[in-house]
Amino acid sequence: IPQQDPILRVDHVTLRFGGLVANADICLEVRRGEILGLIGPNGAGKSTLFNLISGAYRPTSGRILFEGRDITDLPAPERCRAGIARTFQVPRSFDSMNVVENVIVGGFVRHRRAAEARTAALATLDAVGLAHRAEAVAGELTPPEKRRLEVARALATEPRLLLLDEVLTGLTPSEAKAGVELIRRVAERGVTVIMVEHVMEVVMPLVDRAVVLHLGRVLAEGPPTEVVRNDAVITAYLGE
Ligand code: ADP
Ligand code: MG
Repeated sequence: IPQQDPILRVDHVTLRFGGLVANADICLEVRRGEILGLIGPNGAGKSTLFNLISGAYRPTSGRILFEGRDITDLPAPERCRAGIARTFQVPRSFDSMNVVENVIVGGFVRHRRAAEARTAALATLDAVGLAHRAEAVAGELTPPEKRRLEVARALATEPRLLLLDEVLTGLTPSEAKAGVELIRRVAERGVTVIMVEHVMEVVMPLVDRAVVLHLGRVLAEGPPTEVVRNDAVITAYLGE
């Protein structure tokens, strides 16, 4: 695949839940190595789009292509093996297991032996700043630590495309700063990142490009500094 081809193409994707159109005719191309911000008011359809890309949902119509391959009908575990990882807006750790075991579960996607998976998991925990909590019970982590674990579990699958759903939301300024640095490091290693955030300011310094969703549609797209000044975007956020 030539470098110029998009790593991800969302092609006229629509998803209806009964009468509600959660995603309406969405078209989106993501370049390899890009950090894309997916923003929009609550209920805009951001998490729904992640569910469609990661395979939790199937679109009512439209196609999704990853590295040139049509993955629209591929089950979620196979998309993960293909190189797509996601975090959940509400962290989903195995609370009775310890932190490193949670990360090892992600690593098994790559068919590792147990010892190898553990070494890789510890390295991943170190990368997200959670190595000192490796033996802690996951259920006892603080909320910001749970976010880091969620990112570690996704990274352990060695993705080429990483979908982050509100991982910076609700953090203190210094925690958010650490989170931004972590995402930058991940992107520098060549991982393409799409990050969903509800609060625009959080993603602005980090993303190469922003796409704004509103009522299931793409409302605006462009450099973050331009998007925040877009009248339609300002109105959409005011209407919340
Ligand atoms: P966002 O992440 O941008 O806040 P969501 O993608 O979670 O928004 O939701 C978009 C819309 O789709 C909302 O109106 C939400 O209530 C609806 N929705 C999301 N998931 C489901 C579902 N599984 N069943 C029915 N409606 C849903
Ligand atoms: Mg959401």
